[in-house]
Amino acid sequence: MDQPLIDIKDVRHAYKTDKGPLPVLDGLTLSVPEGGFVAVVGPSGCGKSTLTRLIAGLMIPDEGEVWLHGKRVKGPRSTVGMAFQNPVLLEWRSILRNVMLPLEIVATGMSKKDQEDRARYLLSLVGLSGFEDKRPSELSGGMRQRASLCRSIVHKPEVLILDEPFGALDAFTREDLWQTMHKVKEKEPFTGVLITHDLRESIYLADQVVVLSGRPARTQHVLDVPDPGPRDIETLYTPQAAEMLATLRHQIQIAQGRAPEEATA
Ligand code: ADP
Ligand code: MG
Repeated sequence: MDQPLIDIKDVRHAYKTDKGPLPVLDGLTLSVPEGGFVAVVGPSGCGKSTLTRLIAGLMIPDEGEVWLHGKRVKGPRSTVGMAFQNPVLLEWRSILRNVMLPLEIVATGMSKKDQEDRARYLLSLVGLSGFEDKRPSELSGGMRQRASLCRSIVHKPEVLILDEPFGALDAFTREDLWQTMHKVKEKEPFTGVLITHDLRESIYLADQVVVLSGRPARTQHVLDVPDPGPRDIETLYTPQAAEMLATLRHQIQIAQGRAPEEATA
């Protein structure tokens, strides 16, 4: 079998706090094949953002291993793209120049013209043609998130990490963004990890959903989503989707200690 692009093996980690160590991850295992898109769901505070920091190399776990493309992660890498709930766009730069930023930081060898063309292409892909010269504050929240998404993939990162990127958007905007995500993945394939609270989002976007248990967190359940790839929003209203959502809800209840584990059989 091919080696997974992201391979997290039995990771344990505790934060050092004034009150002593705070265990956050306790045996977390996750593997994502090249081109895979895994959603991670779990109760608030269970260590999802911690997991993203481990993949990005911003933190090294106390125990266990994090591997990216066959290399042990030992520090930050520019080959990881990240997007968060609150897009951190620089107000003194135009939208175009915000998207170009990673290309200016990472040595790509691209000419200024090529950098600009790539940024313009991505902005057109997410429906932001015509907004290149605007400042971030002139855009709506959904548009800023689209621009942020472009910036996170402009340098073709090996891995794209999305930490609740659509969490602050209204339901309609969010569904639009989901469709945009499918379009982006089709045109600009990536290997991704999506952190989300929204179970419908997880099955609509990802090909696998990993449920983390409570605190400290471990991998509680892994659900494969059949037929990944571009899909219609209507697929969320099929009996098959309802069944997947019920399974995930149930697993989260177990993770929160609210349902007996035997009931999963
Ligand atoms: P999630 O993203 O699932 O909500 P986090 O990974 O942000 O969870 O945090 C997991 C736990 O670790 C929480 O209890 C949080 O308060 C704590 N935590 C997060 N970052 C730190 C830190 N730098 N120092 C101490 N505790 C932290
Ligand atoms: Mg978080």
